[in-house]
Amino acid sequence: MSTDFITEPARRIEVIGRTDVLVVGSGPGGLAAALAAARAGVEVTLVERFGCFGGNITVVGVEGLAWYRHEQTVEANGIGREFEERAKAMGAAVPESQSLSYELDSEGFKLVADALVEEAGIHPMLHRTFVSPVMEGDRCAGIVVESKAGREAILAKVVIDATGDADVATRAGAPVHKTPIEHIQAASVMFNLAGVNKSEFMAEVKADPQTYKDWSTGEWTVETDGKEDDMFSPFLKKPFAKAIEEGIIPKNLNTIAGTWGAVHDTGELTYMNLVHLAGIDGTDPDSMTKGEIEGRKQAMLAIEALRRFMPGCKGVRLRNFGMTIGIRDTRKIDAVYNMTEQDVRQQGRFEDTIGIYPEFIDGYGILIIPTTGRYMHVPYRSMLPKGVKGLLVTGRAIGGDRVAHAATRNMACCAVAGQGAGVAAALAVKTGREVAEVDMAAVQAELVRQGVRIH
Ligand SMILES: Cc1cc2nc3c(=O)[nH]c(=O)nc-3n(C[C@H](O)[C@H](O)[C@H](O)COP(=O)(O)OP(=O)(O)OC[C@H]3O[C@@H](n4cnc5c(N)ncnc54)[C@H](O)[C@@H]3O)c2cc1C
Repeated sequence: MSTDFITEPARRIEVIGRTDVLVVGSGPGGLAAALAAARAGVEVTLVERFGCFGGNITVVGVEGLAWYRHEQTVEANGIGREFEERAKAMGAAVPESQSLSYELDSEGFKLVADALVEEAGIHPMLHRTFVSPVMEGDRCAGIVVESKAGREAILAKVVIDATGDADVATRAGAPVHKTPIEHIQAASVMFNLAGVNKSEFMAEVKADPQTYKDWSTGEWTVETDGKEDDMFSPFLKKPFAKAIEEGIIPKNLNTIAGTWGAVHDTGELTYMNLVHLAGIDGTDPDSMTKGEIEGRKQAMLAIEALRRFMPGCKGVRLRNFGMTIGIRDTRKIDAVYNMTEQDVRQQGRFEDTIGIYPEFIDGYGILIIPTTGRYMHVPYRSMLPKGVKGLLVTGRAIGGDRVAHAATRNMACCAVAGQGAGVAAALAVKTGREVAEVDMAAVQAELVRQGVRIH
């Protein structure tokens, strides 16, 4: 770290709003939290640094919300399911290729999120970045944001940190941890293509169907339960292996491989999850700068390989990159309860459950698909940071070990957690209690009223 410093002068900051519940970040976790709190009857403000709601769905282009779903899969439903149903109804989803789910359209979902926010009467605040908490002793009483309007403060009875990176909790002084950089999940620059010949592409996919077992070729090994091995996966590896053989992709980039999302009648091939960058720290802008530039280079190599070696892709061109690099793994809070590998592998059961999540584990070299009806409870305490009052953390930064996160990081699980956080925050406001002392039976009853399966 540098030893060169300046001192920022103290300044008066205008308070531009007061609200019951303030949600920071609008991904599947934050959007669900804001909707749930508003529907539980309190005033809600939703702050987001970018120009659209939706988090990774809309800004990175992650379209696979429920690609784990099969006949036996048991789910919480609730707001996560509503995202999918509403996207279908608004023409912003298509059937997903490997499951009984719908794949979201990352652009169309911007409109879906706008509609949901507007209908729930949430106060929307886009283009404002959280920079510091407003602390009253050990209580988080609001936040300071930075934008084109300068610095502004927003005060709240409860703050929900849904930044994905536990930004609010960290700066409020709550204990957090990160995976060591050498084991951190890869970052990805995502992209979409135009100009695919759909019938030729699908004919090749059918002629040479790939499976989850194929994920274990080359650079990676993936642990499955065995039952996944022969199931179809929209996996692409062969065109890139061929490009390496032919000298089009350098040998060391055998990490270029992965999944495609949807192929549209209009010739778009979306949610291209092919670039995997090791060692990128999503809380370090220098590291992310490196990842963005390198990721875009690798994406163009991948496109060249597809043009040459994947039937149906001869005439493809880059339609767009995600607005930002996709980060999977940063800070997690040390919560009142930290979920464990045992909880996600062995159907954890908790008295303070706020929703269920199927046995879907995807990350750190593990892939378990919920084809059996097994599921776990998500405990409310995993969202309670230590040492800070008035604050809940939801989405991918909740407390847990690495394998637990391979389950809880998934967007539908983030929505389950988010809905639980939103309802608990609303009931804390309504009853004048601390979030740590909220009446769990009342939270669970409201979640059931909102359509969530909690047991
Ligand atoms: C490339 C990639 C592929 C993935 N594939 C899948 C998949 O197929 N299926 C699946 O379920 N999951 C997938 N994931 C994981 C999943 O997308 C994330 O774990 C999930 O979106 C996390 O949800 P979240 O609400 O916690 O955070 P995010 O979706 O990251 O949303 C956080 C929001 O907070 C905002 N924000 C952050 N900091 C601030 C700040 N300081 N001020 C204001 N706003 C802020 C961000 O702009 C963003 O909108 C993938 C992830 C990546 C990166």
